[in-house]
Amino acid sequence: MSSGPIDLRDREPYTLDQFRVNNEHKDDLEYVLLSEGEIESRVSGLAAAITREYDSRENVDLYANCVLKGAMRFFGALIPRIEVRAPVSEGVIRASRYRAGKPGSKETEVRWLDRDLIEGRDILVVEDIIDEGYTLQAVIDHLEEYNPQSIEVATLFDKVSNRKIEIDVKFTGFTIPDEFVVGYGLDYDERYRNLRHLAVLTEEARNA
Ligand code: 5GP
Ligand code: MG
Repeated sequence: MSSGPIDLRDREPYTLDQFRVNNEHKDDLEYVLLSEGEIESRVSGLAAAITREYDSRENVDLYANCVLKGAMRFFGALIPRIEVRAPVSEGVIRASRYRAGKPGSKETEVRWLDRDLIEGRDILVVEDIIDEGYTLQAVIDHLEEYNPQSIEVATLFDKVSNRKIEIDVKFTGFTIPDEFVVGYGLDYDERYRNLRHLAVLTEEARNA
């Protein structure tokens, strides 16, 4: 029995009219990859796996960090479901990969992390999605400078077929196909975060 990621790469997607989708979003979406209910059930499974992991360790002092903004919904659902026998604190990290004017740039700016809280703590980086991996690697490199006791990653979605650098990810919700997804907190140009399900955006909407 595996508690690993649920692989959606070969699964038949849902049509838009099988779920309730905001009319404002409908024309821009190709199909629904995951319903809100499926996502939230899996978040509970991840929280249980995280709880088991940290309860098997000694002297845990968990510091969960939400990578803004895409992971906000995931973070809000995940943290209350983690029930470790240890202190838990919460923080945010802002990470943005420079894209404008620098195509293919691997530079990532990491901001807002509370440096004073990192030393000696067990950092859980909470991410929405990993694609090539550069964003997450930059976050990890940054955190390592402030001497945490440990660093682990929880990501809700992973486009693993697209990875350019190897990263050790302990907790993954779903492995998804290499498509541009929005909803459940993930945006395109700051829109669609409020879509309740995870859906694939049409080419036309991405080029608009
Ligand atoms: P990476 O550095 O791993 O290539 O990029 C990860 C970041 O790119 C994510 O944190 C997210 O901001 C963005 N990203 C990558 N793939 C997608 C996607 O399919 N949908 C959305 N909304 N953002 C994505
Ligand atoms: Mg992210």
